[in-house]
Amino acid sequence: MKVRFWGVRGYVPTPNAAMLRYGGNTCCTSVTGEHGELIVLDTGTGFCMLGDELMQGEFGRGRGTLTLLISHTYWDHILGLPFPGVVHIPGNRLDIYGPDSTRGSLQMVYDGMLSPVYSPVFGLAHIGATHRFTPISTEPFIVGQLTIRAMPLSYRPHSPIWAYRLEEGGRALVYITDVRYSERGIREAAIAFAKQANVLIHSAPYLRDEQVEDYGHSRVEDAIEMAQAADVERLLLFHHAPMRTDDELDAIVAHFRQMLAAQGSPLQLIAAAEGMELVV
Ligand SMILES: [Zn+2]
Repeated sequence: MKVRFWGVRGYVPTPNAAMLRYGGNTCCTSVTGEHGELIVLDTGTGFCMLGDELMQGEFGRGRGTLTLLISHTYWDHILGLPFPGVVHIPGNRLDIYGPDSTRGSLQMVYDGMLSPVYSPVFGLAHIGATHRFTPISTEPFIVGQLTIRAMPLSYRPHSPIWAYRLEEGGRALVYITDVRYSERGIREAAIAFAKQANVLIHSAPYLRDEQVEDYGHSRVEDAIEMAQAADVERLLLFHHAPMRTDDELDAIVAHFRQMLAAQGSPLQLIAAAEGMELVV
């Protein structure tokens, strides 16, 4: 599997000269399987950049198929979907998986984004691409040669948050975002789900000693401890705080790499950046 980050910022896009290296688009990551299967984790504003690139290939001719795995429906994880041309070209196909909420289905949320109040598109029914929504469950499913597993990591039925695990050829990538380890049992569930993953992509906007109101969002230290407990090989921090500059992110990574080295920990720590690619 090949991974590429299209947006690594949390909460809001941050077009800022001090943040160009890590980038200002919100959450969107693509995973390409060995046989070309294309899977997208969340459709934050980074999805617009991915969409532009896809227009150069089959998607530009209306012959592309995209599998979207949506973790949850906060704005920074969905905002990019309506904009790229690929979504509006007839013949393209979007298979969208994600959690329904007690306040409405995932399809209803995306449809609402395209309502006349927000958009001239007038609803999902008017986008060109064929689209199919499937409520996510813990039942594994197959996309091409990849096996996909999902796990709920929150107790809030109005805004459920799910994690994903993608496996191919004995390799595993796990995606966990917006998790709150203060909720009972969530940390244990996350560790079991991420067990021995080769790559863990984990949200980590703030540090424990930062005094910010972030509604209990996991901190950098939480992500590291969780990755160690799960015997993960490589941890990619993302969902960076909106005010965090490139230099500050560099310093955070350097600090925690030093800590891991002092512990003799084999965990590889990386801060994900827009445009970064890696092979799982
Ligand atoms: Zn988020």
